Amino acid sequence: MSISDNLATIVSNIKFTVANRKFFPNMPETVKILAVTKNQSPVAILEAIDAGITAIGENRVQEATSTFSHITHSIEWHLIGHLQTNKVRQAVNMFDLIHSVDSEKLALEINRAAGKVGKRQCVLVEVNISGEETKFGVPRQQVIPLAKVICQMDFVQFCGLMTVAPLNTDPETARPVFRELYNLYSELQALHIPNANIQWLSMGMTNDYQVAIEEGSNLVRIGTGIFGPRPQIKKGAEPA
Ligand SMILES: *Cc1c(COP(=O)(O)O)cnc(C)c1O
Repeated sequence: MSISDNLATIVSNIKFTVANRKFFPNMPETVKILAVTKNQSPVAILEAIDAGITAIGENRVQEATSTFSHITHSIEWHLIGHLQTNKVRQAVNMFDLIHSVDSEKLALEINRAAGKVGKRQCVLVEVNISGEETKFGVPRQQVIPLAKVICQMDFVQFCGLMTVAPLNTDPETARPVFRELYNLYSELQALHIPNANIQWLSMGMTNDYQVAIEEGSNLVRIGTGIFGPRPQIKKGAEPA
């Protein structure tokens, strides 16, 4: 199947899921598809944009710099992978939304870098709901305090939550994780923290995006579902 066929299938699955799910309070009504482009060639990425993709998710600042140089379209750029403090300045220059804030220290670095360029950087807090040790993200009980601290920063805007569910072939195993993140999202909304702009619940990938949407996701991060199996290394992105 072509990239545009794949995307059409996903769009129709999302429509079906949204139309048939049980509605919870504060549940966002529309769902944005983030095309995850790790290891994808510029040709494939351009094909996805032609097929209607308007937002791209990159895992690494370094790789994003290379992708960036090939794409001149005005689309949204999201950072979904772990961010090291020494890459913050570049990240702030490139990304509309950073999904992976997992410490006050990182948020402070972003605040400083964003202040220097006069930008208010939208961020999500990455949550490690399942408590897996191998995962990035803050434990559930630290999310609200961190969100409150971020909301006091002048150049960072707290825009919501992100999680990566444990990898499993059965998407149902991710449901409790998604539900927990949605509950936290609702709880945060109800706190009415000054300066917060809570609008994104980033959860769900190729294998489990429909379950994530049933549980309230409005930002699904899809790689293989759009591009097919991921190349092991990125091809064709070397500088000419
Ligand atoms: C790779 C990646 C995805 C997309 O994974 P697929 O299973 O290919 O859809 C989503 N989110 C993050 C954080 C990723 O690293």
